[in-house]
Amino acid sequence: MLESLLGMHRKVLGEVLDLLYPRACVSCGQWDSDLCEHCIESFVPFWCRADHHTQVLQHIEGSGRGDYSLFPIYSPCEYSGVVAETIVTWKNTQSAGLSRVMRSVWRIQLKMLFEEVRICEAFPALNSAVPIIIVPIASRWKRLHEGRFIVGELSEVLGEETQIEVRNLLRKKNILQPEGVTSVAELFRSFGKSWNGKQGRRLPFVRVVPGSEGLEKRKAKRNSIYCVADLRGVDVILVDDVVTTGATFDAAFRAVRKSGGRVIGGFALAMAKDPRISLVA
Ligand SMILES: [Zn+2]
Repeated sequence: MLESLLGMHRKVLGEVLDLLYPRACVSCGQWDSDLCEHCIESFVPFWCRADHHTQVLQHIEGSGRGDYSLFPIYSPCEYSGVVAETIVTWKNTQSAGLSRVMRSVWRIQLKMLFEEVRICEAFPALNSAVPIIIVPIASRWKRLHEGRFIVGELSEVLGEETQIEVRNLLRKKNILQPEGVTSVAELFRSFGKSWNGKQGRRLPFVRVVPGSEGLEKRKAKRNSIYCVADLRGVDVILVDDVVTTGATFDAAFRAVRKSGGRVIGGFALAMAKDPRISLVA
């Protein structure tokens, strides 16, 4: 209740601020538009299978060729330059104007995709006999209050274009909290340790276990999302703003599976080509 009231308040505030301040393109700074015509061109869609660029969502078996993705994820843009700048600004500001522009950009991108393929072709696992919902991948609690929940906005537009119901059912755990800390006293002790460390300022919340940091982090990330509803017998399409390693989609996939649902596919506004990711490794 409070959350929705706060959200409403901020939405109204954003609309008012838009009227008071002159607009400038979030990427190049040109006046009079939230995103100028030239910069919008960076969003001309090249729809791709983003899951093919991730390591986490691939299950390579043997040496044969084929589609070994857990599920297909479609994305129209690469996360770089104007696209990246725009997404970061959209996430971190209250600009209602930019939000309007980005919603229509996304709508046009989707329309262009659905002119080419039907949703049952895009997601071969889709079963028309089973209820299907669109679920935005959770944003951090902080984001919901200080910026825009753009994944929710992307999901809404997708829902309008596909006539599929959108339900916000995923939540993110705070994975930075150290596991062993159970009391305030312990929390202060862990603060003390980090402040006395020779390397000077260190983040007090990150527990570093030599040699296992990467593994621990990956494990924590894998279980960083949970679902707040029973999804038995329900098919799910996931939505996120950016797909990089696929770890977030993987965590959402696990959360849905844990509550009985089945993920049949996903969408992301942009995909990052991560140089660290190699299918051979
Ligand atoms: Zn521009």
